[in-house]
Amino acid sequence: KKLLDIKNLHSRVEEAEILKGLNLQINKGEIHIIMGPNGAGKSTLANVLMGHPKHEITDGEIIFNDENINDLEVNKRAKEGLFLSFQYPEEIPGVTVENFLRTAKSSITEEKQGIFAFRKILKEKMELLEMDESYATRYLNQGFSGGEKKKNEILQMAVLEPKLAILDETDSGLDIDAIRIVSKGVKTYSSDDNAILVITHYNKILDYLEPDFVHILVDGKIVKTGGVELAHEIEEKGYEEFKRELS
Ligand code: ADP
Ligand code: MG
Ligand code: MG
Repeated sequence: KKLLDIKNLHSRVEEAEILKGLNLQINKGEIHIIMGPNGAGKSTLANVLMGHPKHEITDGEIIFNDENINDLEVNKRAKEGLFLSFQYPEEIPGVTVENFLRTAKSSITEEKQGIFAFRKILKEKMELLEMDESYATRYLNQGFSGGEKKKNEILQMAVLEPKLAILDETDSGLDIDAIRIVSKGVKTYSSDDNAILVITHYNKILDYLEPDFVHILVDGKIVKTGGVELAHEIEEKGYEEFKRELS
């Protein structure tokens, strides 16, 4: 069942055209990877999908759950089931991980989350990510190591249960053990009822995730789609070939 259909998407930020006719289809049950050189527009795509106000859609359509969401507000997109992890998560002093997640969950579901019921769910998800219990009572991102911040993104995803989770370089800066744990968390979350879009530079995460599709994004467009073999090809040859084809 089709979940996301991006048709001929063009976007602009501060007078610069970044996405230049991007097409992408994602069905429920699938894991997709996007790779591409620095500055290609990968994070821009993630931000445009979430409705970041700095990015203007100048042409094309984003169809999510059979609905055009081009003009939908950010918080409504979250309620519809879109989720974006942040490449550089913010520190929020004075707010514990547990309170932050419980508030976010209440807001997205528009249902009050009971303290004890929520704590139980949170504990299960944290065990999956091999996070210490004390973690829930720490202030959000304050003094977190790189690995802890990344695990926190996955924890957010697991708690909020989005239909489409977009993970932007969630693996960058992680050691090999943390990559394994984070990948396992993503893989476990993946089901027939949702889809996952991972933006990454690293092949290691692909070994764990076993994605259905790998897309190469160059200069604001998806220029090639394949399976995991495409990622290995990139590792060997880099992006030069794709850049040359474009010019
Ligand atoms: P990637 O994630 O593929 O490395 P980005 O999507 O972050 O690339 O950036 C693509 C291009 O868009 C870059 O040239 C970047 O400078 C520009 N860009 C992205 N966001 C902004 C912004 N908020 N303001 C100005 N330029 C931006
Ligand atoms: Mg970048
Ligand atoms: Mg980026």
